[in-house]
Amino acid sequence: MKAFSFAAPRFESEVLELLGETWGQSEILAGGTDLVGLMRQMIVAPERVVYLGNVAEYRGIEADSAGVRIGAMSTLDDLADSAALAPYAAVTQAIRGINSMQLQAQGTLGGELCQRPRCWFFRNGHGLLADRGRLVAEGDNRYHAILGNDGPAKFVHPSRVAPALVALGAQVRLAGPTAEDETILPIEYFFRIPRDESERETMLLPSQVLTHLMLPAVDGVASATYEVRQGAGPDYPLAAAAAALRFDGPYVREARIVLGHAAPMPWRSAAAERAMIGLPVTPETVKAAGEAAVAAATPLASNRYKVQLARVSVERALLMAAGLETGGF
Ligand SMILES: Cc1cc2nc3c(=O)[nH]c(=O)nc-3n(C[C@H](O)[C@H](O)[C@H](O)COP(=O)(O)OP(=O)(O)OC[C@H]3O[C@@H](n4cnc5c(N)ncnc54)[C@H](O)[C@@H]3O)c2cc1C
Repeated sequence: MKAFSFAAPRFESEVLELLGETWGQSEILAGGTDLVGLMRQMIVAPERVVYLGNVAEYRGIEADSAGVRIGAMSTLDDLADSAALAPYAAVTQAIRGINSMQLQAQGTLGGELCQRPRCWFFRNGHGLLADRGRLVAEGDNRYHAILGNDGPAKFVHPSRVAPALVALGAQVRLAGPTAEDETILPIEYFFRIPRDESERETMLLPSQVLTHLMLPAVDGVASATYEVRQGAGPDYPLAAAAAALRFDGPYVREARIVLGHAAPMPWRSAAAERAMIGLPVTPETVKAAGEAAVAAATPLASNRYKVQLARVSVERALLMAAGLETGGF
């Protein structure tokens, strides 16, 4: 690990003064479950680490008639245990899927959303885009993207909770670069697919911090997350989907369907959403939505199997959101 200076500010204005203008000058430390490993392996080597744990305003979950506001330093356990979040089933199901007491107790919401990809080319020092995608295209790509992979980014976005938050129409608050700067952004537009090594997987600048997440009031929306996992341990899913549905009687009036671990960002499928509008949730309609979700998939040499898993994830997330049996396990 490269030597670095450590700062533990107490107020947002101090946080912003400590953040650098370019990546490499500083990194934010939340629970540390991802950042510490990245620093030990010298994948990131900041001059300064800015710890957010002493900023009181970044903790806590507040609910009112408009929805729920969550501080970025709230732990995943805080979210899973919160009565305010119980109606947002897609979120709590995704957190429980992490299946690790340690990660849920230590990992924070901000860290979960900003964690870096698990791509083994990136983690082994070949850069986020692994030689403009060449290493992934020619190498072992069994866990890589099947959608949104036409550019150099071929990793899958690692966050488990992000697809649920996109489906539910959450917003994030970003602070910085100066104390006067505040950006409220639909979380859907917070994530992006980087085109070159100067970009990361989110819109966050090195001089900004993600401070809060806002969920709109549930207001009759039913949601669910379904993941296809290799096993029961703390490991990332092979494919996942989150669905948020608003009904008009038995018919779907609004649908937001988001695939996880399928693309370099949480992947909203307009085609799957269109396939559900005006129809009831039945085994036949969800099958059509699942097929629509993966119709444009472009699997790599070793991950064609993920197309089927993504399709099934969409089907089962829809069935679960409607309170129906998935037929799976
Ligand atoms: C062994 C292992 C297994 C794992 N398995 C899973 C799994 O199965 N499923 C899963 O979903 N996750 C898994 N994870 C990832 C884990 O969920 C995340 O590492 C955790 O949620 C990150 O939270 P943290 O607070 O520890 O983040 P940190 O490690 O502190 O930070 C992670 C990244 O986010 C940035 N960051 C953190 N907070 C902010 C903020 N507020 N604003 C801006 N940037 C910020 C940091 O700079 C850093 O780049 C695993 C991690 C490990 C180490």
